Amino acid sequence: MSAPDRNLQTVSTPGDWTPASWRSRPAAQQPVYPDAGALAEVEDELSRLPPLVTSWEILSLKKQLAEAQEGKRFLLQGGDCAESFADCESALVSNRLKVLLQMSLVLVHGLRLPVVRVGRFAGQYAKPRSADMEEKDGVALPSYRGDFINRPEFEAAARTPDPRRMVKGHARSAMTMNFVRALIDGGFADLHHPEYWDLGWVGHSPLSEEYQRMVAAVGDAVRFMETISGEALHNLNRADFYTSHEALLLPYEQALTRQVPRQWGWFNLSTHFPWIGMRTASLEGAHVEYFRGLRNPVAVKIGPSVTPDQLMRLVDVLNPADEPGRLALIHRMGATQVADKLPPLLDAVRREGRRVLWICDPMHGNTESASNGFKTRRFANIRGELEAAFELHAAAGTRLGGVHLELTGENVTECTGGARELTDADLSLAYRSTVDPRLNYEQSLEIAMLIVRKQSS
Ligand code: PEP
Ligand code: MN
Repeated sequence: MSAPDRNLQTVSTPGDWTPASWRSRPAAQQPVYPDAGALAEVEDELSRLPPLVTSWEILSLKKQLAEAQEGKRFLLQGGDCAESFADCESALVSNRLKVLLQMSLVLVHGLRLPVVRVGRFAGQYAKPRSADMEEKDGVALPSYRGDFINRPEFEAAARTPDPRRMVKGHARSAMTMNFVRALIDGGFADLHHPEYWDLGWVGHSPLSEEYQRMVAAVGDAVRFMETISGEALHNLNRADFYTSHEALLLPYEQALTRQVPRQWGWFNLSTHFPWIGMRTASLEGAHVEYFRGLRNPVAVKIGPSVTPDQLMRLVDVLNPADEPGRLALIHRMGATQVADKLPPLLDAVRREGRRVLWICDPMHGNTESASNGFKTRRFANIRGELEAAFELHAAAGTRLGGVHLELTGENVTECTGGARELTDADLSLAYRSTVDPRLNYEQSLEIAMLIVRKQSS
């Protein structure tokens, strides 16, 4: 008997699912709000505010992700570990966009593939923490869980979860989206003008010659095509930019989960591409329950403790009909564990013939404390995990279709190593992240160049 053709299975909202059905499951990593009435008021307000994205954008991303699954595109997903309300500033937003556009130029040029660009922004305001409480000098306060929930200062008032912050976060996300959309519509991503993406603060960078060579080659190709076709190439002045965040704070996500005219089912309209974090990916948990009923493409972070059996059950729950473009698996094993932990997962998915987009997050398995106490990541480990991931996929007969990075367009010193060989002692020069260390501009560009080298080798 031949295998069932999964394309023929109908995709529909599970009959026992509602946007609130997660509430009957254990919800990990949620704040405890002191005033239930205030929370209910905020949920009601949020559920009436306009959404941040549209269903047709979500469906067009799903189509692009389906193409990435088939090797026809490569996905670049990146941004801050945690956005902060204070960083909702024009230069910070546009610099992050510039880095992503430069990286995507490197990838398009080197891979000869269109790139799906997804920012970790416009809603990346809630963070999972390893402990609910933080203790300092005999005082215990709730941990900082991201600007959606509380403030980082170690004071009782700052750490008390305040539901009004969700409304402020929704507004900041809308401002970020609005600015990104306006820049892109205004021609900021135009391949005729890669100089728009130069970062003011970058002097001579060790990688700039290689980058400028690529810019020149792309410029030549564009002019050549325009010469032979006799007209300006369309679509070069626009680039689709999608948003993503960890959909951790379920009251917020539920309030933005909507039905839209002339579409069936439910969309999370706070972002195009929500993901489930490693700490909330339990099969019985509230997050998996919430995600399974959405029409958005969704991703799950997969850490080293996930077994092939657990992974296959997750795939079944989140994509029962094997819908193309629906499910991405973001593995984040760490440089020392990836060779052991990844291959059994790749084999299981391949054996069952399931359709997923594999993405490597080489950041989160490589976090460590530097000798001087800074939370950091060594560039060599990030690079090592990514290189190994390409090789392990090739050996398993699967395809690494994307990369997930924490990066910024600011001149920070948060990860050590890279082209400028930052050391532990350099970390204090410009360490700005309130949560995880990000790649700076040069380190980000170096990763893009590395992907090209690995994919074409
Ligand atoms: C993150 O992406 O910032 C994060 C917390 O990742 P993970 O869930 O993989 O640990
Ligand atoms: Mn992080």
